[in-house]
Amino acid sequence: MSFDAEAKMQLVFALRSQGVRDARVLQAMETVDRGAFVRGLFSERAYEDMPLPIACGQTISQPSVVGLMTQALNVQPRDKVLEVGCGSGYQAAILAQLARRVYTVDRHPRLVREARDLFARLDISNVTVIAGDGSRGLPDQAPFDRILVTAAAEDPPGPLLAQLKIGGIMVLPVGQSDAVQHLIKVTRTDDGHEYEELRAVRFVPLLEGMARD
Ligand code: SAH
Repeated sequence: MSFDAEAKMQLVFALRSQGVRDARVLQAMETVDRGAFVRGLFSERAYEDMPLPIACGQTISQPSVVGLMTQALNVQPRDKVLEVGCGSGYQAAILAQLARRVYTVDRHPRLVREARDLFARLDISNVTVIAGDGSRGLPDQAPFDRILVTAAAEDPPGPLLAQLKIGGIMVLPVGQSDAVQHLIKVTRTDDGHEYEELRAVRFVPLLEGMARD
């Protein structure tokens, strides 16, 4: 399915009605065709505001949740951003529109391969996809201006808190995987971290170690 005008309009309408107001975020989401990140049977539902299944038993997040998380992250053009949970690559592609450089990590080698191929095909050159356990962050590339986690942990992982620059922002879902989770925004200050609760959400769990595909 092509990302035609009507599909775009419907998606932007859904995003706005869910509270996505930031013009740059809306523009990025109009630019990135979600249909390219969803395969097979589900591709015809790519422009609906719902999560959809992807390979390896994972999900591509609901567009309005992607929009709200991206908005809360307040990405700046010169930022170096880490995403934990590449999945389909959709969220990373949106971050790539807003930031200078994006590193995205996934524990499933198959998802990593597919996302790399897709970014190459779509000519998205400022995203690096890495296979690994993202709960440890990426010590080689740290510190980051922004960190976005798209899988739920019980608490914010310590290495990620430590890899955030002073003044940096991290947005992540926290809570038990089968119970209510909350999206939180963490800001690193000179002498610690400030926490703000945004809304209830539901994400797949952040698991330790690499997956064997
Ligand atoms: N951002 C994705 C949605 C991803 S779903 C998108 O736009 O499509 C969550 C992803 O987190 C899954 O792909 C899962 O494999 C990954 N994940 C879970 N625990 C992880 C960990 N410790 N390190 C890296 N990735 C992890």
